[in-house]
Amino acid sequence: MIVRRLKLEGFRNYRSAEAEFHPGINVIVGENAQGKTNLLEAVGYFSGCRSHRTRAERELIHFDRQEAALELELTSRGRDFRLQARLARGVRRQLWSNGVRQKSAAGLDGILNTVLFCPEDLSLIKAGAAERRRFLDEAIGQLRPRYAEAIAEYRKLQESKTRILRDWQDQPAMMDTLDTYSLRMCRVGAQIVRYRARYLAQLGRFAPGIHREFSGGREELGLRYQTVKTVTDPSAPLEEVFSQLLEHMRAHRRAELESRSCLSGVHKDDLIVEINGVSARTYGSQGQTRTAALSLKLAEREVSRDDQGEAPVLLLDDVLSELDARRQEFVLNRIGGGQVLITCCEEETPGRLRAGKVLRVHGGALV
Ligand code: ATP
Ligand code: MG
Repeated sequence: MIVRRLKLEGFRNYRSAEAEFHPGINVIVGENAQGKTNLLEAVGYFSGCRSHRTRAERELIHFDRQEAALELELTSRGRDFRLQARLARGVRRQLWSNGVRQKSAAGLDGILNTVLFCPEDLSLIKAGAAERRRFLDEAIGQLRPRYAEAIAEYRKLQESKTRILRDWQDQPAMMDTLDTYSLRMCRVGAQIVRYRARYLAQLGRFAPGIHREFSGGREELGLRYQTVKTVTDPSAPLEEVFSQLLEHMRAHRRAELESRSCLSGVHKDDLIVEINGVSARTYGSQGQTRTAALSLKLAEREVSRDDQGEAPVLLLDDVLSELDARRQEFVLNRIGGGQVLITCCEEETPGRLRAGKVLRVHGGALV
């Protein structure tokens, strides 16, 4: 997958800009607050049709403008694409693929795959389970649009069920539908469990090797999928996983009514990361967990490459400045073999990166 050209009009602090990218390593250099992250955000927008930083589209439109237009030319699976998005204040956004208007973001599914790594991701291991679920959901969703649909449906079910659990005492009629929602959550949940189990197995083929190299052979990384307790084998046939989820949910029915919240389901899943056999979250040092987070992201790229037959575009935002020299060196040696867009502040970095191209950003313009 190669992104070739990006055109922006009124996006974030870009009034009007055009960038051409090299198929190898592109280094985006500039001082703070000039528009480096905004540029990565614009490219990343076309995978999943949303920003990695915000859910509010209006934030993406330049303060002084009524609308923003993004256009990205890329090659994916041997085909050329021109993807366009128009965001306007108070109006539904519009999307096009090769000039054809798309009804929804699903129309752009699977065209651009990216793996994004930003400074916040360095705390992936130490953060709460929700962050790791988000990591899984985004990674799997890019490869399997059906998974993204299941997650969206599950969220809606969970919201509806939460409303019932919260309000049923005032409106007892709501109770009639509680079990229907629970049942459906288990149905969709079973699909989610199987996708997650499969993805973790794929991740487990790459992450330990990367981490071993990263830690100079000192650390063994282990990944474990933690889901609802009653599920004995997350890769078991769908019906089996479903009935085990249901068993757990039924056992917690009373507790859910009392606590007025959804206690049972895959919305509590976690990805357990171990280093040398113990929980990295509990025992890992700052350096260890940061390294493990980076290993996971680089493994995500390998899984995507393996699955799709071509490397996703790697978007690295400001990661080097957060790493020590040895880890920087590892990252620099590891990122070849696919297109990379990497932002940095230091002037000397482009040389060390063996950049194919250096783009300089200043005040929302490419100079
Ligand atoms: P750093 O090195 O600090 O990460 P950066 O080059 O990555 O800096 P960006 O995050 O890309 O900086 O943001 C650049 C500027 O864009 C910020 O000063 C911000 O105020 C501005 N900005 C963000 N959203 C908008 C918007 N909707 N309209 C105009 N300017 C915006
Ligand atoms: Mg930035």
